[in-house]
Amino acid sequence: MNQEEKRQLENELMVMGLPGLDDPALVQAMADLVNGYPYPAERADFFCEMLNECEGPRRREMYEAMRPRLSFPVPSLDACEARIAARAERMIRPRGMPGKRPADAPIEEVIAVHTCGRCGKGEEHAGQTIADAMGNAKKAGWGRGTEAGTLWCAECRLAMMPAKIFGNSFTSNAAARRVN
Ligand SMILES: [Zn+2]
Repeated sequence: MNQEEKRQLENELMVMGLPGLDDPALVQAMADLVNGYPYPAERADFFCEMLNECEGPRRREMYEAMRPRLSFPVPSLDACEARIAARAERMIRPRGMPGKRPADAPIEEVIAVHTCGRCGKGEEHAGQTIADAMGNAKKAGWGRGTEAGTLWCAECRLAMMPAKIFGNSFTSNAAARRVN
């Protein structure tokens, strides 16, 4: 990770209310996010999905760091990898966080439909203008994906965080990156 990437990642962590990269509390904060995943039965899947984004050796490192902090029965790393393989075969189904808009929210004028560039999930965000709707999408956790021009949902951005922290597999020049 170069300085620019590190700076960007620090910004993203800050926006998401997470501790900085060099803060030992970061792993615990990531574990808390998995422990708080809204569908308890899917926490293990969600964790496996996070692992999936990490490249080989970093995957074990992330697994070992997070496992003792998880509050649900965690599958073995082998079992996680088997789940990842099975899941890839049947394609990742879009999963949505439950709607959070309160019933007494003020009536807004514009509904923007955003489609996640990673999982394909669509979500509507309302606002008084398009820019306002985009602002509300950002408040709901939507933001830039890893490629220019892509928009990702909160869940996908969250799922990518550990990969960014521990190293990821989707960078085409991964082998050329410096290992710290
Ligand atoms: Zn998504």
